[in-house]
Amino acid sequence: MKNIWRIDLDLALCSGMGDCARLAPEVFELGPDGLAHVRSGVTDDPAALDAVRACPMAALQAWRDDTGEQVA
Ligand code: SF4
Repeated sequence: MKNIWRIDLDLALCSGMGDCARLAPEVFELGPDGLAHVRSGVTDDPAALDAVRACPMAALQAWRDDTGEQVA
């Protein structure tokens, strides 16, 4: 069974440097306000977890959609 993750973004922490959008462009984008936005709140793209872990501001979190366990 495929893992599905729920992605949370705390915009108050986002610095807008765009690492997440570079690492997982299917999941994150930079908006016209210069801050990150989540394209889809749930994803099976493993790059999303890399992006969550790479966020320099710890603005991103990822949770397993089925169990609610935090994975990044
Ligand atoms: S990597 Fe983190 S700080 Fe950088 S744009 Fe994405 S959410 Fe914002």
